[in-house]
Amino acid sequence: QEDLFKNVVSHAKEYGYIFPSSEIYDGLSAVYDYAQNGVELKKNIREYWWKSMVQMHENIVGLDSSILMHPTTWKASGHVDAFNDPLIDNKDSKRRYRADVLIEDYAEKLNQKAQKEIEKAKVRFGEAFDEQEFIKTNARVVEYKAKQREILERMAKSLGDENLADVKALIEELEIADPETGSRNWTDVKQFNLMFGTKLGASAESAMDLYLRPETAQGIFVNFLNVQKSGRMKIPFGIAQTGKAFRNEIVARQFIFRMREFEQMEMQFFVKPGEEMKWYEYWKTTRLNWHLSLGLGKENYRFHDHEKLAHYANAAADIEFNFPFGFKELEGIHSRTDFDLKAHEQFSNKKMQYFDTEENKNYTPYVVETSVGLDRMFLAVFSNSLKEETLEDGSTRTVLQLPSVLAPTKAAVLPLVKKDGLPDVAREIIEELKWDFNVAYDEKDAVGRRYRRQDALGTPFCITVDHQTLEDKTVTIRHRDSMKQDRVAISELRAIINSEVSM
Ligand code: ATP
Repeated sequence: QEDLFKNVVSHAKEYGYIFPSSEIYDGLSAVYDYAQNGVELKKNIREYWWKSMVQMHENIVGLDSSILMHPTTWKASGHVDAFNDPLIDNKDSKRRYRADVLIEDYAEKLNQKAQKEIEKAKVRFGEAFDEQEFIKTNARVVEYKAKQREILERMAKSLGDENLADVKALIEELEIADPETGSRNWTDVKQFNLMFGTKLGASAESAMDLYLRPETAQGIFVNFLNVQKSGRMKIPFGIAQTGKAFRNEIVARQFIFRMREFEQMEMQFFVKPGEEMKWYEYWKTTRLNWHLSLGLGKENYRFHDHEKLAHYANAAADIEFNFPFGFKELEGIHSRTDFDLKAHEQFSNKKMQYFDTEENKNYTPYVVETSVGLDRMFLAVFSNSLKEETLEDGSTRTVLQLPSVLAPTKAAVLPLVKKDGLPDVAREIIEELKWDFNVAYDEKDAVGRRYRRQDALGTPFCITVDHQTLEDKTVTIRHRDSMKQDRVAISELRAIINSEVSM
């Protein structure tokens, strides 16, 4: 599994999907750049989401709100200190949550240590090795496993607790250091602010302290009435948005799974109070179906229903995905009550109510939100698609079996040889197809090697122009996954490709 993950990271770099940010300066921790193919895959995932949410739902509209927002926004949302109790609670739970991540990390490290002992023993004892017996009897492994179990049990217990004390005590006891700074001083964590600060205004005296948004949702809440009125929206309706969010994560790790600058795809659905559970269930099902439609395998998804809820929520679930490092949150579905709209009403002194013409009264709508990380989706799709296959003749090939609708390049056009006018015909085919699809041209190396390269890039089709093409205007079209080749007329190409790649 660890190897698989390493392969994912190196494949992403080698084939132009993801580079570390500012790599020539040794990179910036937990910040990444999407390369020539990565940017296309990311765009296609975003579009696949947008179509299903906005285009397919008459009562959902889009929004692109700004990254910089009035600083009071973050007081209302509970992201910075405020003067009323529930918001202080919120801040505390954020802190506790950060500590939880560290502990989980530590438990995982213990697990890995135990695993290493097991692997070493395997090599040492060879055939005679009895893994179960070893786990039970080897002193070190027993200790690691016991410690790990204890940590996880205590963490589970503390999650049910309303205060931080237990988790803090655990951390002190274990002397867990921040993996990045090496610091064991947990007052650092107390003062830790997850938001990135910046300034608006040039002169030091008049500048205003701002934050880069840690979530896109608040841009939707503050615009709720603007959209409702200008769009004459009737409840229930939704507002969808994709965009960057920034979090100064303490434990930034696992490649693009947890980044400091990342992109969210969120939709806030405004409903009549009392109807939120119906919509919560609707969105849980609808969102899971969206994920399943990509064909990465039903067994790779599961729901995690939250038992302990944030104070603003009355129901919450994650859709978890089987990443190379195990099942982890991919998307959150939350029933957020009227918490956010009420908080903004309180802080802005502006009414945030909806006038229901059927009931002839005003109310503050309830909100059900779906929130998925675009980068996490990318990682889910990319890691799941990367396969090492052994072929019938015993050779192996690396193939990136991306869902065709998401593949960066839909077809590569390859002249069999670099002469006899074949490149010209290939170029003509590209001229035709490029109006509808991203297509690539490649004439370098033997055709077999070009196929392999396109397999590794995730291109669903290779179109080969050969001498027969000159006679009868047919080409071969090769399918990435089955490697089957069909002879078809050039005029049929568009329809064949389209039938597999259209959203
Ligand atoms: P996690 O528990 O993994 O930190 P979260 O519960 O804080 O996530 P939300 O605030 O609910 O996440 O954000 C919604 C979605 O945004 C998450 O499901 C995840 O896909 C994505 N996301 C959150 N934080 C990050 C991050 N640092 N890097 C990449 N994606 C993220």
